[in-house]
Amino acid sequence: MVMGKRELTCDVAVLGGGPGGIPAALAAARHGASVILCERNGYLGGNAATGLPLLGYLSQGGRQIIGGIAQEFIDDLMASGDSFGHECCPLHNSVTLVHPDRFRLLALKKCLEAGVRLLFHTEVTGAVVKDGRLEKAIVTGKGDQVEISAKVFIDATGDGDLAYIAGAQYEKGSAIDHMLQPPTLLFSVTGFNKEKLMDFLEAHPENMKQIDTVSVGEGYNTKLWRSTDTYVFVGMKAYLDQIRKKTDCPILRENIIIINSTIPGKVFLNIVRIPNCDCSDIESLSDAEVKAQLQVEGIFKILREYFPGFENAVLDSISPAIGVRETRRFCGIEKVTVDQALAGYKPENTIALAGYKIDIHSGKWEGTLLQEVVEPYGIPLGSLISADLDGLLFSGRCISVDHETLGSMRVMPTCMAIGQGAGTLAACAARQGISPKDVNYREVVGILLKDKAILR
Ligand SMILES: Cc1cc2nc3c(=O)[nH]c(=O)nc-3n(C[C@H](O)[C@H](O)[C@H](O)COP(=O)(O)OP(=O)(O)OC[C@H]3O[C@@H](n4cnc5c(N)ncnc54)[C@H](O)[C@@H]3O)c2cc1C
Repeated sequence: MVMGKRELTCDVAVLGGGPGGIPAALAAARHGASVILCERNGYLGGNAATGLPLLGYLSQGGRQIIGGIAQEFIDDLMASGDSFGHECCPLHNSVTLVHPDRFRLLALKKCLEAGVRLLFHTEVTGAVVKDGRLEKAIVTGKGDQVEISAKVFIDATGDGDLAYIAGAQYEKGSAIDHMLQPPTLLFSVTGFNKEKLMDFLEAHPENMKQIDTVSVGEGYNTKLWRSTDTYVFVGMKAYLDQIRKKTDCPILRENIIIINSTIPGKVFLNIVRIPNCDCSDIESLSDAEVKAQLQVEGIFKILREYFPGFENAVLDSISPAIGVRETRRFCGIEKVTVDQALAGYKPENTIALAGYKIDIHSGKWEGTLLQEVVEPYGIPLGSLISADLDGLLFSGRCISVDHETLGSMRVMPTCMAIGQGAGTLAACAARQGISPKDVNYREVVGILLKDKAILR
């Protein structure tokens, strides 16, 4: 049986339309490149279109460290009433809520305005490599194949599917036990009564203490959560321990995370946890989806029965697919290590800053390791450039970092800033007809600064 085949050509091909891919496509197109963006869903956004909060626009000290296209999104969403902007948070550095569907529509409009050619419902399924250069990405949709030839490819699929198929080297998991962070299926409820939960917490303050590995500092308490709509609540460990003694509890983590939204009365819940799986393995991924969907039912029941504030909650939505925190990290010509991150090292070729805490959810069961990043560190251009395939760049969470640094740089604002760097580099390489690794980093840094990126 022969599949239908067609061929497309562009300067820059971006695979994956999430936080790492959207700014990459926009930056490349705005700097004159012809761009094709392939996305396996029928919409843009990736995890930014699920209801998750955008964490880490501000550093631990409250300084804004993400600008450029990532900030442009928030400015536009604030103007339409679909974000309340950045709010300092003692636990998360900063919380920025966005209306998930508005984010997705905004991404679509911006891509159309910039002239990005969108190819939805296409999944990367092949690659053509010749003499060490990635020449084509093959995507498949509706049973047909599209062969895309480009001067530069940007893999922003999260798992690095194009790079994997093309044979680029990668690492996976912790160097100690090879564990990967667990995935979570996000869901939302309406009818949550925040004040009732706050009253309960004030009567039982032991439930506010949620993580032992980091000093959250003053101010992460009911006063904060009562005072703002821009909050992410993490807690209820002591209460959960009690419930486990009383009944079968399907919650496989030490606390619950309640994410407020810009939609009145609606909260998103980050509570599902699927331990011991590898979401870059198709059988493990499928198994995780099954377990996660079944967990939602049980968790919702427990919340309604036992948790103050959820008595009248109504199940509103379940994310279309499980959210994957960690899989492949590809080898770049440079790699960011945890020592560099903790030292706040900013090399001259920094194309984005990262300042979110090292936040590693246990892949086994309970536990979340949190470590402060006091001074923001730099993401160097070289960590986006494949060490072994010419013409291949990485964006988003699959760039060249170690497991611990991934725990920090994986947050969406940082992925967006990295995306802008990747797209800018790709446009420079395409315009000059040279390999991305031969582009002078000063040129990329200069363009990024003009485009309002924050690099120091
Ligand atoms: C449960 C969970 C909670 C999190 N909490 C937060 C949080 O509170 N705040 C925060 O800022 N960050 C959070 N993160 C981290 C953050 O969401 C991700 O690290 C970030 O979205 C990574 O961006 P990305 O563009 O690399 O990947 P993604 O957001 O996953 O986007 C990848 C895109 O590529 C597409 N794609 C994938 N494979 C293919 C393929 N083969 N072919 C074509 N298209 C493909 C996908 O459909 C998707 O649109 C969380 C992550 C998870 C999973």
